Amino acid sequence: MGSEYFYIVFSLMVISAAMSLTFFMAWRNFGQKSHALTWSVAFLAGSLQWLCSLNADVFPNTEVYLLIESAFSIALVTLGLRGHCQRTKCTFLPKNLWPYVLPVYAIIAWHIAVSPHVGIRMTVVPTFAALTMLLSAYMILTHRERTRPAEWVVAIGLGVFAITQVGAASLAFMQGATGDESIAAAYRHFNFLTLPAGYVATSMLIILMMASDISAKLKKMAVQDELTGLLNRRGFEEYGTRAFAAARRTGQPMSVIMTDIDRFKYINDKFGHAAGDMALAHFAILFAESRRKEDVVARVGGEEFAALLPGTDLRDAMAIADQLCSKIGSTPLETTVVGLPMTSSFGVAAISEKDKSLDDMLLRADRALYRSKRAGRNQVDLESSQLLRAADGRLVQVSS
Ligand code: GH3
Ligand code: MG
Ligand code: MG
Repeated sequence: MGSEYFYIVFSLMVISAAMSLTFFMAWRNFGQKSHALTWSVAFLAGSLQWLCSLNADVFPNTEVYLLIESAFSIALVTLGLRGHCQRTKCTFLPKNLWPYVLPVYAIIAWHIAVSPHVGIRMTVVPTFAALTMLLSAYMILTHRERTRPAEWVVAIGLGVFAITQVGAASLAFMQGATGDESIAAAYRHFNFLTLPAGYVATSMLIILMMASDISAKLKKMAVQDELTGLLNRRGFEEYGTRAFAAARRTGQPMSVIMTDIDRFKYINDKFGHAAGDMALAHFAILFAESRRKEDVVARVGGEEFAALLPGTDLRDAMAIADQLCSKIGSTPLETTVVGLPMTSSFGVAAISEKDKSLDDMLLRADRALYRSKRAGRNQVDLESSQLLRAADGRLVQVSS
């Protein structure tokens, strides 16, 4: 191997090893995601491939060297794809890709050992790499509804890298069966130009994408209640503040329902804290089941829940709360031992001219909730600045 090639292949080996270590550290520090480990092993295979290239003369013959070196390149490419598949939980590719890779390797092996053809054997890996990169980009762009900026950048990076691999594959093929030396030199130069940049750029972008995964997860954790999967108070306030501003701007009605499970301490004391947790999860399902797409429901305290209903006036919100109240009272949590009955009290308020912020509205709903507790629980009360409940249960205007 000419000395200039030695330096370039050596640097490719070091880059691959560094990438392997980087992904290994990412695996250890970014929550042990399996795809990070897969990518670490992929780059390990890459560095072993370049190690083989540096030491071609230690193999018993050229065929053995070519077969082993090709196996490492195929492993690098396949594990790269596997990692993207694991991260995006893709369903259209099977978990184990090796049965699909074996025929690809068989073509290489055939053109090394049985019917030597330099062009074909060297075309297969870059073609396969281009295909896997395009497939990975497709998975990244399609696995969630709204692709994040970091994912766009990786998909575009993979697309560009795939184009360079198509270029490499074309040059490799043009070498023909015996390997035209001038084209072989062009192929090497092309690879030396594109591979280090491709490895480094795509890996860095993928690390960025993994960091964006973590950041999205942390953001979600900050606004989500772990036990029920609903929004927590912070998430409710964030969403509610935006909805409040929108309702103010558009003049649309908006209501809020606050609810607090009745005598929940008794449930905990009688059936245990674990049963209490199950009851909370059960309540959350019942509460969330009846929401419309635009509504948002949250667990805003221990056994306190809230629903924000954009576009809904007080009368409709009362009807929804009434329905929820009877649904909860009539749907006990079925445990293996007993049915665990549960009731809840509700307070409802609608946005009013006087509300300066979401808090004002929540405060009025809270007061209404307190009133239903005092009136004996398992019922709905309303903030009475606009409507009153008449003796027959009807809602009437305050002024009438
Ligand atoms: P009331 O009808 O007046 O609302 O009575 P209550 O017993 O529901 O009210 P209180 O606020 O006194 O008790 C709430 C209880 O909820 C106390 C607390 O131990 C329990 N709790 C709060 N968070 C959790 C939780 O995450 N899991 C469980 N199992 N219990 C919880
Ligand atoms: Mg309670
Ligand atoms: Mg409470």
